[in-house]
Amino acid sequence: ARTTGLTDLAELNRSQQEAVTVGLGPVLVLAGAGSGKTLTLVKRLEYLLASQVAPSKVVLLTFTKKAAEEMKRRAGKLVGAAAHRVRGGTFHSFCLKELRQIRARDGAPSPVVLDESDARDLLRSILADNGLLGKALKFPKPRQLQKWFSTCVNTGVRLQTLLLDFGLHVDRLDSVLKVQQEYEERKQGMQLLDFDDLLWHLDQALEDEETRELLARRCEHVLVDEYQDTNHLQASIVQKITSVHGNVMAVGDDAQSIYAFRGADIKNITHFEEMFPGCRVLHLEDNYRSSQEILDLSNALLQNSTECHRKHLVSHCTSGPVPTLARCYSPITEARKVAEHLRELRKTVPLQEVAVLYRANKSSLLLEAELLRLQVPFLKVGALKLLKRSHVKDLLGILTIAFHPTHTVAWMRVLQLIPGVGNATATQICQDLAASCAADALQLWGSLRRAFAPELQELAELVARLQEETSTVKAVEAAYGWYMRYFLHKYQDENAEEREEDLSLLLSVAESYESVTEMLSSLALDDDVADTDSDAVTLSTIHSAKGREWRVVFLIGCQQTFNEEDEEELRVLYVGLTRARRELNITCPGLYLPYWLAMVPGLQRYVTVNDACHMSTPVTRATPVGSLQVPPGTGPSPWAPVWRSVGGSSPQLLSVLATPRGQSPPPARGLAEVHSAGRAPTPQRAVYRMPAP
Ligand code: ATP
Ligand code: MG
Repeated sequence: ARTTGLTDLAELNRSQQEAVTVGLGPVLVLAGAGSGKTLTLVKRLEYLLASQVAPSKVVLLTFTKKAAEEMKRRAGKLVGAAAHRVRGGTFHSFCLKELRQIRARDGAPSPVVLDESDARDLLRSILADNGLLGKALKFPKPRQLQKWFSTCVNTGVRLQTLLLDFGLHVDRLDSVLKVQQEYEERKQGMQLLDFDDLLWHLDQALEDEETRELLARRCEHVLVDEYQDTNHLQASIVQKITSVHGNVMAVGDDAQSIYAFRGADIKNITHFEEMFPGCRVLHLEDNYRSSQEILDLSNALLQNSTECHRKHLVSHCTSGPVPTLARCYSPITEARKVAEHLRELRKTVPLQEVAVLYRANKSSLLLEAELLRLQVPFLKVGALKLLKRSHVKDLLGILTIAFHPTHTVAWMRVLQLIPGVGNATATQICQDLAASCAADALQLWGSLRRAFAPELQELAELVARLQEETSTVKAVEAAYGWYMRYFLHKYQDENAEEREEDLSLLLSVAESYESVTEMLSSLALDDDVADTDSDAVTLSTIHSAKGREWRVVFLIGCQQTFNEEDEEELRVLYVGLTRARRELNITCPGLYLPYWLAMVPGLQRYVTVNDACHMSTPVTRATPVGSLQVPPGTGPSPWAPVWRSVGGSSPQLLSVLATPRGQSPPPARGLAEVHSAGRAPTPQRAVYRMPAP
């Protein structure tokens, strides 16, 4: 055991110790998941502070602010409060602070940040001024434009090249270029910098030798975690600052590079030695996070990669259960199974030790509803919970006014969905409503005020209908039907399609409840009090779970994707698998495994396949709509209405999953999933009524 000043290195292995105590100059620590890269960086920080480096001269760059705080807290345990003077955070926050300093020195006004949503608003108004806004025009949306502009800044690729690669029609090209120009001009006019500008401006400022030297003096040691996900500009900034003294330590794992879509460049790692001449590359071999069972699967997965450095993770932990793989009959079955599993698990494992990870944010929506129903607390990372989303609140609001007519907040929300009804009118209507039975008052109001008479009349009828409806699904459908008339008016430029998908998921959610009142009260339980320390399961995208670990991990929504052969998909899976310490459960909603999982040779050797969730016999080659074979055991014709209802939207049916009669979930209703032909069998869902036997 070696002890250097205050730093205790006894708990580290030899390679880690070497990395911590390595001399000055550029160092790259390249190692697999769970090998202690982050820990090594924390120890390096301690070591530097213990070696009398002034804390304010150390810069710790991490992917999130929280990660930096956490690392400083850990280092603080040994070196005390000094650790808090270390400058840590994301590249963006670092750039902002440095730009402030530089501009203050030059007597220039301090930069003001234009955040992402304000930037979108700005783009929207530019589109509007140029007559490019409106659904019918199908012009790229602000969000898409923002992505393109950002990619250009972060990768250095020209917008024109990017757009041509994307396959944008040439007619559109000039307009997009013009929008970009105007966007830049308006930002400049208002003296605002968006996130990408922060990086770009600092990088530009560092072209100046005097500035470089100034920064090098302020940043004597630069430590970077998750280096595989830095982009070209970020690497350039690090290179320029440290060109003076060379003191940079970057840690990363090329196999975990999952941010290419944001311009992250794996070359930053593979070309590190060229960017930082004379650098040392160190490797950490042992894994201290996961059981060998989990690592065996991760290793097998990585074998198919052609882009990553070969790695073989070897565990230092005790052996654990073999990971499980379950194909589920549908996303709703998957959500139910996982929620039930979590409810059981809760009896033995504290929920802070459990995470559910998924590729796409929407994969968690059904699970959120199921967890609420089973009263399993959860904490969602990064995105708004399903129930906090504005369109979901709209739809639930409509149900709420029918079943809790005194809920003025819900009334205000719903009334204002009607185009032309603003806050004042809605308030007035609400006052009338408070005085009498809601629906009647609405009718009355409709006849008095001609302006919104038909709309209010219809709303009154809907409310009356909902109050009489005994089936939850039908009630939700009715509310949905009414809402759809106003929905586009409200959201046409704000991801209407994505929002519509969420709403259709609510129809599936409705099936789990006996009554609307039960559904509303169960969903209302979501009080958002859970914080990181509380007894709650973490729900997160794989991307946001970077660097973290849990004892039990569920990987859900593992389905085929469009760009299945893209190695980034493999790396995303790898990041997901390697978050687990002891227990790993993978679930796939549907017949097909993700491409890279299916490609693992002898997959059964690494996982316990649990097809119990898979409640039906798949039809391997279904004939086209019209003369479809029904899987054995499901009875002959109850599916006919399904083919009709989905047939229009899915011309080539490849396979069909169906719930056998008499099995849960559907008592009177069922769910069918139809996979269309081609490589991306995105399930299309049809909710239908099962005919009486
Ligand atoms: P990732 O690539 O996922 O970010 P990482 O390489 O940064 O992983 P860490 O998070 O630093 O890995 O470490 C993984 C786990 O292993 C942590 O719980 C850490 O405390 C533990 N660990 C690391 N090194 C050792 C060691 N030498 N002895 C015991 N535990 C260790
Ligand atoms: Mg890490």
